[in-house]
Amino acid sequence: MADLNTEVRYLKGIGEKKAQALNKLGVFSLRDLVSFFPRRYEDRSVCKPIALTVEGESVCVEAMVADTPRLTRIRRGLDLVKLRAVDDSGALDLTFFNQPYAKDNLRRGETYVFYGKIETNGARRGMVNPVYERAEGPRAVTGRILPVYRTAAGLNQRSMLAAMRQGLDACLEQLPDVLPHDVRERCRLAQTAYAYENIHFPADYTALELARRRLIFEELFVLACALGRMRGERTREQGVRMQPRDMSPFWAALPFSPTGAQRRAVEQALEDMNSGSVMNRLVQGDVGSGKTLVAAALIWHCAQNGRMSAFMAPTEILAEQHYNTLTSLLGPLGLRIGKLTGSMGAKEKREVKAALAAGELDLIIGTHALFSQDVAYERLALAVTDEQHRFGVGQRSALIGKGQRPHVLVMSATPIPRTLALIIYGDLDVSVIDELPPGRQKVDTFAVDESYRERLNGFIRKLVAEGRQVFVVCPMVEENEDLPVPLKNAQEHAEELARAFPDLRVACIHGRMKAKDKDAVMAAMVAGEIDILVATTVIEVGVDVPNAALMIVENAERFGLSQLHQLRGRVGRGQHKSWCILVSDNDGEENRARLNIMTKTNDGFKIAEEDLRLRGPGDFFGSRQHGLPEMHVADLGADVNVLQKAQQEANLLLASDPELSLPAHAPLRESVERMLQAGRDGFN
Ligand code: ADP
Ligand code: MG
Repeated sequence: MADLNTEVRYLKGIGEKKAQALNKLGVFSLRDLVSFFPRRYEDRSVCKPIALTVEGESVCVEAMVADTPRLTRIRRGLDLVKLRAVDDSGALDLTFFNQPYAKDNLRRGETYVFYGKIETNGARRGMVNPVYERAEGPRAVTGRILPVYRTAAGLNQRSMLAAMRQGLDACLEQLPDVLPHDVRERCRLAQTAYAYENIHFPADYTALELARRRLIFEELFVLACALGRMRGERTREQGVRMQPRDMSPFWAALPFSPTGAQRRAVEQALEDMNSGSVMNRLVQGDVGSGKTLVAAALIWHCAQNGRMSAFMAPTEILAEQHYNTLTSLLGPLGLRIGKLTGSMGAKEKREVKAALAAGELDLIIGTHALFSQDVAYERLALAVTDEQHRFGVGQRSALIGKGQRPHVLVMSATPIPRTLALIIYGDLDVSVIDELPPGRQKVDTFAVDESYRERLNGFIRKLVAEGRQVFVVCPMVEENEDLPVPLKNAQEHAEELARAFPDLRVACIHGRMKAKDKDAVMAAMVAGEIDILVATTVIEVGVDVPNAALMIVENAERFGLSQLHQLRGRVGRGQHKSWCILVSDNDGEENRARLNIMTKTNDGFKIAEEDLRLRGPGDFFGSRQHGLPEMHVADLGADVNVLQKAQQEANLLLASDPELSLPAHAPLRESVERMLQAGRDGFN
């Protein structure tokens, strides 16, 4: 008897070759097979009268063969069978290439269902190589909604269909119900067997919808349970328990009053750190929302508890910047602050490391140098990482591995729609800073095309004359990329600008430069020694150049909205009125709509939502930003409502059975474990 673990090659008609093709698709067992869902469906459920069919449509018609099929041999290796079929409304010319047997299969006077693409020739309609079967009797490939699968070399749709039918017949009844009974009832979801049968061979569209709904829910529910369990395991970890302290000296020392959102984020994190469990919190806030302040408050709190903090930035220049900010904020409050970056001299490094090991510092700020092997920490209780997507997961945990498990605060400026943040950072608690400091200027944004080039150059000149600096961002170009229209290349564009502005200081920074050289250029920009900096997206991360007042993005059509928003956030950080100009010669409707959104709103979350809506989750979650396991049916962007519902149910369930150890939850636990296994590289 076949069961879910039976290998596919034991199916009838699946030999060595086809089994290998299936393996290539990730299908090894019958369980894999029935979980291999169709890519799309062909509607062969209704027959149209011939007269109502239109050029180019794929359609079924029921028609009688009106003459005797004629076989012609055009030349060696090219046979042609031609015939005519009619229904009450009209006639159809049928042509079969290299299917001589069609001549005998199709009999004059008999009625068949033909499925194919309509081609017209004047008033005549025809089909080439249609699929057909007799209208009377059992129908396999017409009269139904037919699934279409992804296939691999050596495996066609017909074999796939046959294998699937066998697979379902063999193990449909053995599929365990992953969803607890009451969840399924409450959410009105179809049963497992029904769902699997109808996702493959839908009885009709309603059945297909019910099947999809159930399977999407199931997938998201398992995902939510998996993430919930990871979070559960982490929060049960012991953390350094801190004592509450009066925060007012810290607040009083600030040059401004914190926003409500900043206060809330600080309070949430303090609660974590005082709880005795270890903190794993993400602070998510738009560029310029003041995330650094949240970190500063926690660092101060740690110091009041006699503990030290480490603050990790993705680049030297950012580390430098944070060092300056935090030193001017926390230095006067008596904190002892050190810096550790790769470019520091050996002697300097040695001194800082000694101070660290001796517990003489309250805060260390640095780059990945912070977690090199030879750095030892004394009393480390808080690890802050900025702009998390720049760090590899391994790096983050290297710091976590230092000494006793410290509390972790991750700061990210990649706005993600709230609902999705819950899932993507499912193993972290999330604080959202959804409020900008008061008096923040809006960056005026315009979308223009090449015809504005002259005026744009005039604008650059005017602003630089006023003492401002300019960023110009060009897209990253893959070397082997074939493009209809050449893209602006950062280096070439910089040369062009240098020719256009011979008296200005133009520099270029791009990804192929060494980190040290990049940092040197950025430092020169910060110091005001560059007027126009042409860059690839390396400047995306939060470097502060308050004097920069203009951001120009070339080939703006090449950037995602969230990315454009990040880039725009590089200006408008000082007291100067700032602008962002998006240059694109692509006047496709979709591109115009996208760029328009940028000109209308400065709200990163709104933009992220639009981005997600327009691009779909596949693109939105560039591999850099998320590491979720691949979803088979669910669409993380489109199925947000289901996602929320699934998450609610998962939380409810985990509250009563955190380990999923009840016998009734065994199938769920297995699925969760399989997903965790599959997502091991993906999950943080
Ligand atoms: P980001 O969230 O992008 O890291 P920063 O922490 O760099 O933002 O803060 C951006 C700027 O806003 C900094 O110059 C900071 O001093 C300032 N800032 C932060 N919080 C406030 C506040 N509550 N009121 C006024 N200015 C603030
Ligand atoms: Mg920042």
